[in-house]
Amino acid sequence: MAGIYLHIPFCRQKCYYCDFYKTVNTSLTSKFITALQKEIILQKNYLSNENIETIYFGGGTPSVLKINEINQILSVINQQFKVSTNVEITLEANPDDLSKDYLNQIYQTGIHRLSIGIQSFQDKLLKKMNRRHNSGQALKVVENAVKTGFNNISVDLIYGLPGLTNQQWVNDLENVFKLPVQHLSAYHLTYHKGTAFYTWLKKGSLKALNENESISQFKLLVQKAKENDFEQYEISNFAKDRMYSKHNSFYWMGIKYLGLGPSAHSYNGISRRWNVANVESYIKAIDNGLNYWEEEILNEANKYNEYILTRIRTIWGVSLNDLTNDFGVEKAEHFVKNIKKYINNRMAIQNKGIYTLTEKGMFVSDEIMTNLMYI
Ligand code: SF4
Repeated sequence: MAGIYLHIPFCRQKCYYCDFYKTVNTSLTSKFITALQKEIILQKNYLSNENIETIYFGGGTPSVLKINEINQILSVINQQFKVSTNVEITLEANPDDLSKDYLNQIYQTGIHRLSIGIQSFQDKLLKKMNRRHNSGQALKVVENAVKTGFNNISVDLIYGLPGLTNQQWVNDLENVFKLPVQHLSAYHLTYHKGTAFYTWLKKGSLKALNENESISQFKLLVQKAKENDFEQYEISNFAKDRMYSKHNSFYWMGIKYLGLGPSAHSYNGISRRWNVANVESYIKAIDNGLNYWEEEILNEANKYNEYILTRIRTIWGVSLNDLTNDFGVEKAEHFVKNIKKYINNRMAIQNKGIYTLTEKGMFVSDEIMTNLMYI
């Protein structure tokens, strides 16, 4: 069992908060598609012949691709891997790309899950972020997707945006929960170095929300999701009727995945790999048979840290049995000793040997994870 992630590094324009690797130079698309097909063949042994259960087109903006380009990629994957008959194939898409025609054509390719980057229903904030769509378009696109036949739709939202009031955030959430969608990914804005938002924050032309405002927006998110029967199965991910993202759950459950395309990461239980984060260098290296990725072979401490980092974020939690059996008594004791203070502070709980974070703990999850690491 394994997953494949494809990083499509093109965007029509750059959003001012985004630090994913991308370029607006779409003239490289055709060369990139050729290189990507070669990479699929080059990397086919990384997953040791495992069945492919998920394929995820991420980016960047995969919805800039033409249908024949998507079909070419899927066809090479099908030739080179054993793809499961009920494979989950997801396409990340921006609302402005999803015309009725495009939706129909995507559906015909076998892609039956959409992850739509709505981000906000506040038109002023969408402009401030340099998004290309407005709230009306976002609502219409979901309606059209459902009419096309999509019944596994995820929406992305961002909270903690500069100037976002709690009332506006509640409106955004209510808008999403009224839609016929099954999944929500909601992330707090991060000011990444190198982005326009970061520069404006440093110059003082943009004001970040304070910590209390951020915490109350996170609490509203959790509360509204609960009221609408969306289960919080990971810190930032919510699903109705257990329609979890199979692909993302693979990351959190330590299942192997192969990342293809510039900046993509891979993991196979033995090593982690990451591709060069530059599309020109990527194409050039693949064309000339040169190396384009770096690799870290995981030692026992790395593997333990991976397990903690990924599992503690989820409802499946950290299992003391798994820890003892897979990593030994010493590391299990290290974990129990270090999680104790968070249990005492009601930031974590333990139930039948499974440790999970509480709502209070989720907001400081980075700090907790750092303290649980084995160095
Ligand atoms: S948020 Fe998405 S569309 Fe915007 S720049 Fe980043 S990858 Fe591109």
